[in-house]
Amino acid sequence: MTPETREVQVLRERGQREVFCGLTGIVWLHRKIQDAFFLVVGSRTCAHLVQSAAGVMIFAEPRFATAIIDERDLAGLADANEELDRVVGRLLERRSDIKMLFLVGSCPSEVIKLDLGRAAQRLSRIHSPRVRVLNYSGSGIETTFTQGEDACLAALLPEMSASDAKELLVVGALADVVEDQFRRLFARLGVGPVRFLPPRQSGELPGVGPGTRFILAQPFLADTVVALERRGATRIAAPFPLGVEGTTGWFQAAAAAWGKAPEDVARELAPEIARAKTALAPKAAALAGKTIFFFPDSQLEIPLARFLARETGMRPLEIGTPYLHRALLSEELPLLPADALLSEGQDVERQLDRLRAARPDLTVCGLGLANPLEAEGLATKWSIELLFAPIHGFDQAADLAELFRRPLERRRRLAA
Ligand code: SF4
Repeated sequence: MTPETREVQVLRERGQREVFCGLTGIVWLHRKIQDAFFLVVGSRTCAHLVQSAAGVMIFAEPRFATAIIDERDLAGLADANEELDRVVGRLLERRSDIKMLFLVGSCPSEVIKLDLGRAAQRLSRIHSPRVRVLNYSGSGIETTFTQGEDACLAALLPEMSASDAKELLVVGALADVVEDQFRRLFARLGVGPVRFLPPRQSGELPGVGPGTRFILAQPFLADTVVALERRGATRIAAPFPLGVEGTTGWFQAAAAAWGKAPEDVARELAPEIARAKTALAPKAAALAGKTIFFFPDSQLEIPLARFLARETGMRPLEIGTPYLHRALLSEELPLLPADALLSEGQDVERQLDRLRAARPDLTVCGLGLANPLEAEGLATKWSIELLFAPIHGFDQAADLAELFRRPLERRRRLAA
């Protein structure tokens, strides 16, 4: 463990980690890009993970599946490629609605041996122009679960045409309802044209180039940022649109890039801000003074802790993040409470020791830790739920607070 002293103090840890792999991202990405299909190339474990993560959703025509590649030696690779071609051929024959197919790599050794990039090129040649075949890795080696989205969006970049148009690109999967609200607000502010990555239809991929100004809706998209910058796009630094303050700062930053005066933007956003604050007030009252401890999991921990501390009065004791992207979080870090411990990486046993010593009112963690901690009498919140629920924007600020109030209320009732 190396305590770092720069502008923000960070405890850096390397040890055993408790996280889900990037395949999990398929659960929200398949809902977002409505004509895409995600074919995991993996083992029975991968199939099981994706099925159970998406377990609540039963579709007649699902948009994800697993091609199970069994134990094979290198000599069996030709067969594996043939088998993959067969599976994809059968799938696309049956499903004319699929316009984009992602081959999603995983970490079993027999899958790592397969060159999915070449497989995607080969299959694209066979099935284009009807279907584009792309690939990315959702492997659990050195990733945390939100990196699946980062890898997926970065894989879309080569498909985006070159453009010189001055456009705002909002990057990161958002619930459709939030995207619609943001579109309306940008139109009112006179900011645009606005495009979204990922798009709802694969045919609506935005162009990218030196005129593109992009703003992140999610903090875990470091590879996508690099890929966009390589194409000449410029990032607009902003806090993340979580809570009233974050959303206001986010719109202000985008509007400033379009030359709008802050006071005009504030006037235009005033009704949304007032409504959101009114809805948030009773939830904040229930959370004020309660302590919270974040295990590193979703990479949303820093903006969430900022929101909870500044808008609900909760007291973050430890804010764990799997990776600390200082540049992407430059507008967030100064807003964190000075007395909270910021930790990067994980050594889960040490962190559990700190948690047990602190006994916070609420612990935000992955599914694997939640049940044992509940059994120890600690109230927990599954961080993965924050990716499935619409939490961005003004109208969702109260709902976001409610996601933290509910487990506290459940624990209170259990205690009573
Ligand atoms: S990709 Fe790796 S970590 Fe993820 S489910 Fe498959 S085997 Fe497990």
